[in-house]
Amino acid sequence: MRESFRVAIYLRLSIEDKDKLNRTYDSESIKNQRHMLMEVINNNPSYNLVCEYCDEDLSGAGTFRPEFERLIKDCENGKIDIVLCKSQSRFSRDMEIVERYINNKFKEWNVRFISLSDNADTENPGNKKSRQINGLVNEWYLEDVSNNIRSAFNSKMKQGEFISPFAPFGYLVDSSDNNKLVVDKVASLVVKDIFNLYLKGYGYSAIAKYLNDKNIPSPSLHKYRQGIKLNVVSNKKRDEIKWNSNAIKTILKNEVYLGKLVQGKRTTVSYKNHKIINKDKSLWISYPNTHEAIIDKDTFYKVQKEMKNRTKPRSSNTVHLFSGKAFCLDCGHYLRKKNSSRHEYLVCSNNVICSNKSSIRYDKLESIVLSEVNKLLDKFYDEELLKDKVNKKYNEVYKEKIESLESELVNINRKIDESKDYLQSLYEDKVNDVISTQVFNTLISNYEDNLNKYYKQLNDVNKKINIYKDNIKSFDDKIISKYKKLDCLNRVSVNEFIDKIYVGKVKDNIRNIKIKWNL
Ligand SMILES: [Zn+2]
Repeated sequence: MRESFRVAIYLRLSIEDKDKLNRTYDSESIKNQRHMLMEVINNNPSYNLVCEYCDEDLSGAGTFRPEFERLIKDCENGKIDIVLCKSQSRFSRDMEIVERYINNKFKEWNVRFISLSDNADTENPGNKKSRQINGLVNEWYLEDVSNNIRSAFNSKMKQGEFISPFAPFGYLVDSSDNNKLVVDKVASLVVKDIFNLYLKGYGYSAIAKYLNDKNIPSPSLHKYRQGIKLNVVSNKKRDEIKWNSNAIKTILKNEVYLGKLVQGKRTTVSYKNHKIINKDKSLWISYPNTHEAIIDKDTFYKVQKEMKNRTKPRSSNTVHLFSGKAFCLDCGHYLRKKNSSRHEYLVCSNNVICSNKSSIRYDKLESIVLSEVNKLLDKFYDEELLKDKVNKKYNEVYKEKIESLESELVNINRKIDESKDYLQSLYEDKVNDVISTQVFNTLISNYEDNLNKYYKQLNDVNKKINIYKDNIKSFDDKIISKYKKLDCLNRVSVNEFIDKIYVGKVKDNIRNIKIKWNL
């Protein structure tokens, strides 16, 4: 036979072959599809496999399918004679798309469409009706599946089971129970850092910048490095997805870090329209104590309170020290900030009516409060006790960081081992002529890129570990003295010690200031 056809196979992992409720995302069905299609190709000497296109589509209605789009483009450019699929529904469940391509464009482009399990073949003209019926059935089916899944999800959420496909940053899905979350050692430290930085006075974008500057991988990059494939929503390269203020805000507000599951916050418009809409808070489904907390209640609620307080962040990304804390002693209204060209001031926000009209210089108030805080520290703190506490705290933190980095090392080493296995199988495939030289070369160069990346990661992590180890060694009284007497105030110390500061009028040349301690 002289004839030879360039065949493309299109594979898609979709809703019905994944046990979505139990979230087993094994690639079994992709393997099956590939196996089935390759058998046809291998049994047909005139069929030459040109390329495989494979989408992993978590929704089934498939609004974003990069490989599908590539396939269509290659068809249009005359690179393909036959598109081979397991079923028409793999190609698309959307009647419109079936009509547009299989029944129209493919004819125009001289592309034949064959699907195995439902016997569709565009070469067979009597086949068109059955293709259309297939299309209709598929569309109804999708609607049905979508409704069933929605109600099953709701009942699972009500039982406190975790049903989202991905664990929130800081957690992993328990490998032995798909409906449970366990702490992700590495990411949980980043979550802790985020909460602490916020309490120190950093704003959302300042925290994002801090993390980006330190090259801490963003949640999606972190997931990707763990080998979790995302429902692709962005065309951006994974490495380019950075931390942003939205991500920080979402983390700071998420009650999941308290060990509580709050689910069903969002839904989609319908099975075909994937626009995400927010549900009313009263419809959220929440369940306490489903997993280990990462943030203690005290810290979490302090942060929530701070978020309310920080209504007007300064342009420098930090809020002023006494925001939400400073009030007028005479009328009780909050003190508003006022800037002159040389200094910053606080003044009663009610000062049109209030008799406490004069402002106070910000830096003066700061030094007064600082000296009051230090007096308080003098009175309350026992040096030995403090030393002990601080030492413990630092040791704990560093140890924790080192541990998590060491587990990261194990991960990277595992990946290196895996890629070596992969290399082995690549060579086997090459020797057995399973893959062409061209494909082989591409895969090899990908492999080398990956390996280099892993070695670089390995190096970075080792460096970090050494830094922490040095830090533990360099413990000395300097650290202690930092706690014995504060050199300056920050949001943490202000929050820690002060409930409210009341600023009154000047009397005998002294400003009347009262501090309500938070003790
Ligand atoms: Zn006042």
